[in-house]
Amino acid sequence: MAQTTCSFCGRNKKDVDLMVSGISAHICNFCIDQAYQILGEEDKTKKQVKKPKFKLRKPKELTEYLDQYVIGQQEAKKILTVAVYNHYKRLGQKETDEDEIKIEKSNIIMVGDTGTGKTYLAKTLAKILEVPFCIADATVLTEAGYVGEDVESILTRLLQSADYNVESAERGIVYIDELDKIARKSDNPSITRDVSGEGVQQALLKLLEGTVVNVPPQGGRKHPDQKMIAVNTDNILFICGGAFDGITRHIASRLNTQPMGFSKKSETELIDRNNLLQYVTSQDLKSFGLIPELIGRLPVVTHLDPLDRETLKKILTEPKNALTKQYIKLLAMEDVELSFEEDGIDFIVEKAVEFNLGARGLRSICEAIITDAMYELPSDDSVKELVIDGDYARSQFDKSKFKKLQVA
Ligand code: ADP
Repeated sequence: MAQTTCSFCGRNKKDVDLMVSGISAHICNFCIDQAYQILGEEDKTKKQVKKPKFKLRKPKELTEYLDQYVIGQQEAKKILTVAVYNHYKRLGQKETDEDEIKIEKSNIIMVGDTGTGKTYLAKTLAKILEVPFCIADATVLTEAGYVGEDVESILTRLLQSADYNVESAERGIVYIDELDKIARKSDNPSITRDVSGEGVQQALLKLLEGTVVNVPPQGGRKHPDQKMIAVNTDNILFICGGAFDGITRHIASRLNTQPMGFSKKSETELIDRNNLLQYVTSQDLKSFGLIPELIGRLPVVTHLDPLDRETLKKILTEPKNALTKQYIKLLAMEDVELSFEEDGIDFIVEKAVEFNLGARGLRSICEAIITDAMYELPSDDSVKELVIDGDYARSQFDKSKFKKLQVA
């Protein structure tokens, strides 16, 4: 009788663990394994070439969505949504367009105090656009070869957020925080190398403009053998943010030295001295210590308004996932009806202003006030209601570590 052999590799039935027989062919377990691996790889590449889904939304539509989450900052919203809309229109531009008008990239820089919503705006925008998004911190970046992170590491994070789908990552948004921290430390090019300042600005240049970068998929220098992934940054939108402490001095001196011309009204009369940031221009960023080449690649400049009491109050209560709504939901899960009285809210806002932490302070102050209740109530069935009024808020706050900070 003829021996049964694998129709693929020719192995004899007695040399394999398993032989599956079809109508006129046989396959051994080794070939099944191999075929399975081929299928897996094929599947992976198919996933990678699959066009990422993307819906272009108009600036007003984008702003309406942002309004549900981010309070105020209308100017920043307008400038951001237009820049984002143009950016993605640019991506839709066909390479065969005959008029040879090439729309350039509109990377953005946002100037605003800490906790005013810079990161939050960028993050919320990426969410509505459904594009990969990552946050990078400019302070940890150094020139290649020095202790710290290379600028390529930024793209590692973007790739991870895109699930390693390169094409999708190439349409993503990167938010680079604390760009002001890589400003040139002094006006004199110093004798010692400025590896975390101007050096990083130089390294960022190419990335912002558009180039193919070899990205270590696992990041860092800990995995020297990893296979690099080539990522083209041409269509990645970079949004940079920073507090640029002290930039108002540059703005003020620029505004004061501007010639008045023949305008009847004195220009200084029209200047709102309480919010000088709104007049920020690329020129001020240059005096602050950003190199002109970098500024050139961040053509869209916008500012965030400082958060006043009224805005902080709205932030605390109005957005879709406002803090107060979150606490109410958390306690509702314990069958406790939580409510905030006007004077309770005012107290929280007052403290946030005092600690000067922007909207970020609201959260820690709320925690200081509500933690005791969140600790006690799950084990106490008798309490069905909790009202946070001014007195309750003050007495809880006075017990917390914040009070100690205040005394010190
Ligand atoms: P930064 O300007 O320092 O990047 P963030 O964007 O990180 O500040 O803001 C910190 C937090 O404060 C956000 O996560 C958000 O919850 C809240 N926040 C700040 N500004 C606003 C705003 N205008 N509207 C709603 N929430 C805000």
